[in-house]
Amino acid sequence: MSRIAIIRKKAKLRGLLGIRARLVILALILVCPMMLDRVRLLEHTRATQLTAVANNVATLAQRAADAQREVISSVEAVLKSAAYIHAGASQIGRGCSILRASLRVDLPSVRMLSVADANGTIHCSTSAMYVGADVSQRAYFRKALEIHDFVVSDFLVGAQSGKGTILAAYPVSAVDAGEEAVLIAGINLDWLSDIMSNLAGHAGLSVALVDGEGTVLAASPDQRSQIGHKLDAVPLAFALGANPRDRELATAHDDDGRLLTVSRITGTNARLVTTLDENVVSATINQEIRTAYLELGLVCLIALLGALIAAERLIVKPISMLTSTARQFALGDWSARAERARLPSEFQPLARAFNAMAAQLGQRERELVATNNSLTVMASMDLLSGLANRRGFQSRLDFEWMRAVQNGHGVALLMLDVDHFKMFNDSYGHPEGDACLSRIGEALAGVANDTGGFAARYGGEEFCLLLPESDAATAATVGETVRATVERLALPHRTSVFQRVTISVGVAAALPTDSNAPSELVEAADAALYAAKHRGRNTVVEHAITRIADPVSMAIAS
Ligand code: GH3
Ligand code: MG
Ligand code: MG
Repeated sequence: MSRIAIIRKKAKLRGLLGIRARLVILALILVCPMMLDRVRLLEHTRATQLTAVANNVATLAQRAADAQREVISSVEAVLKSAAYIHAGASQIGRGCSILRASLRVDLPSVRMLSVADANGTIHCSTSAMYVGADVSQRAYFRKALEIHDFVVSDFLVGAQSGKGTILAAYPVSAVDAGEEAVLIAGINLDWLSDIMSNLAGHAGLSVALVDGEGTVLAASPDQRSQIGHKLDAVPLAFALGANPRDRELATAHDDDGRLLTVSRITGTNARLVTTLDENVVSATINQEIRTAYLELGLVCLIALLGALIAAERLIVKPISMLTSTARQFALGDWSARAERARLPSEFQPLARAFNAMAAQLGQRERELVATNNSLTVMASMDLLSGLANRRGFQSRLDFEWMRAVQNGHGVALLMLDVDHFKMFNDSYGHPEGDACLSRIGEALAGVANDTGGFAARYGGEEFCLLLPESDAATAATVGETVRATVERLALPHRTSVFQRVTISVGVAAALPTDSNAPSELVEAADAALYAAKHRGRNTVVEHAITRIADPVSMAIAS
């Protein structure tokens, strides 16, 4: 990667990690652990609640199975005591009437009690419609005779009543070997269902008692319509496949997220199946968790917005205010001041320092300008003659030229040179030469004053006189005045042919336009001065070309 690309990437990264981004990251660093902890807590709560419900269901299933067991046991106890009564009473020939009388008391678990003889014909029953019925082909009847013990049937539809029921059978031979009769009790399924209604009552939980074929014998209210029908396919397969031992539970999960629990009713093929729909159970918890996540999201959003607003108000805005003040300083506006009242207290010392710095730098600048001005003046002055120096002359010439272009008037220039000045120095010494130059400067200043001209020492023993708003004719006259003035000073010069200090003068004039330049005027005046020297010195020469350009003519001095 090239160096420029790296620098650009760095600048981009710095841009991305601006103060706002940093504060947002800081807010996230503060809020995230809190959020994660809350999320962890919520997930833990969900898991704990699901486990608690599953445990609850196991307990409920156990209790339901126990309750069923109690029903079956109570039916068994009723049948056993009825067997004893029947065995005793039959010896005196009143077995049936005594039996019917003994069952007057309402037993919740037993709907009817019948006695079948060894051929399976019911000859005595608490319900008259069963008398004469033949149960010899019923499995429970045959098994009771075969094993001489208590037997519970699978779900049956009564031939007489046409209602679904389960029957319990107990052979009297189990208590009296000589008796061949079998006692049959109809078990009250409604009562079983009521027990399960009490046990169920949890959202997503349903309970069903099924027989060995998987037919629902009793069920919680939500599944009561299932009574007499086969259980749903999945729970059915599990209920019939699972074979838990007495008082044990078999559990499994189906594909729909249901927890299935199966327990057996002792001594029967019946199984109690509980189905816990975890989706329903966790729906409430999930709703709570969703609300909690929403709250967390809002808290985060508020924290981020807060961080952004705080960054904007407390940091970014004050910094941009100070930056804009600094920019005004950079533009040279030292009167600009940072508005301290609008800044947070942390920025006030900085603003105060800024303002103090601006005040001090403003003062320094004023001093510098003043110093600079006097330096400029000094740089434009010639100390020996008291006139402007060449630099001062040049800027005045440029100014007058520009003014003349604008106003359309002429400008004239006189170039003056002391004659045989080298010889003057040689004769009188350099200090005397300086004094001489000083006297000539004074004289020139006087003429400039009288004529509205601008006098300057052009360099060495050369002087010039700028005449604004003037023409060649006037300039030639002024040139003659200057020459005569110097001559009248009568400064002695023993090595000069004139025996006194004299000057030669070159005169030029121009009509400034956008197409000519001040340097042309200087060159013309210089050329005229050169001509004056050639003419023998102590004379005034006007530049010929300037006279041609000058509409106001006068006699050429050459
Ligand atoms: P010409 O008539 O042709 O002008 O002859 P000149 O001797 O004046 O001219 P030249 O250029 O040969 O000599 C000029 C002299 O002026 C040489 C220099 O020593 C002298 N000079 C220049 N500036 C100063 C100054 O500031 N003070 C003094 N004392 N002499 C100066
Ligand atoms: Mg000279
Ligand atoms: Mg000279």
